Amino acid sequence: MSAWQADAACAGTGPDAFYGSADEVDEARQLCAGCPVTRCCFWAAMVNEADAARFGVWGGTVPAQRRAIVHALGGSRFEFGRRLAAAADAWERSA
Ligand code: SF4
Repeated sequence: MSAWQADAACAGTGPDAFYGSADEVDEARQLCAGCPVTRCCFWAAMVNEADAARFGVWGGTVPAQRRAIVHALGGSRFEFGRRLAAAADAWERSA
């Protein structure tokens, strides 16, 4: 578990709402709207190539939105995640 997940508004809730019906997804996204770690969650989903991030609500976004962002940036999710991770590594080394 990443450190940011301890502050998640959804901590302690089950995952079902984040992978459920349209109504459940709407409720989950409302929870995300007030979450203090929305950006961390969103970027974790964008970088993560694992199946867990391909589905469900992450950072208030649904998979179609995340796919659209990757597409708009002109890459596959894997390539986008690889480039983003490399940029984060470079930034951490320079800090
Ligand atoms: S943004 Fe949403 S899914 Fe992500 S940690 Fe917060 S409440 Fe949970």
